[in-house]
Amino acid sequence: MALSKKIHDALNEQIAREFQAHFIYRAIAMDLYEKGYDGFAGWMDQHSKEEYGHAERIIHFLRENEARVTLPAVPKPQDTWPTVKGAVEAALQHEKKLTADIHGLHRLADEDGDLATVSMLDWFVSEQVEEEHVVNRLLKRIALAGDSPIGLVVIDNELKGGADAAAGSAGGE
Ligand code: MG
Repeated sequence: MALSKKIHDALNEQIAREFQAHFIYRAIAMDLYEKGYDGFAGWMDQHSKEEYGHAERIIHFLRENEARVTLPAVPKPQDTWPTVKGAVEAALQHEKKLTADIHGLHRLADEDGDLATVSMLDWFVSEQVEEEHVVNRLLKRIALAGDSPIGLVVIDNELKGGADAAAGSAGGE
């Protein structure tokens, strides 16, 4: 079954938003790396790769459905954040927006009776629960550190260990 124009356009728009998320998290990673937070930067880089993977997943779906992929112009992301907490909060806000976008797309595909797109988007609905959860957990750790720079360094070291461990495993999206 060919995708409707409405669904095709909406999926192309979602590809743009996933690439935008990829860019934003990459920009946060670069900012935090420059400030010496290797662990936070590694965590954001990993998150950035996941967003790239999300865009690729939709591209693959469109290709499988003989639907043309139109690559977007990606807006220049903000390039510095005053605090680590602010940077991670920006990531959470963006994830919430992505969740709302995915839910909107899911409803659209549902109304269209497009079961293939609904099935593809089911994965994204679950993924967004996980995405918001991991960013929320990180914000809770940051809240425990309060205003203590040492606290942030401790979390940064924890994340650095996690990033090293993840790099050694097969990893996922
Ligand atoms: Mg995503």
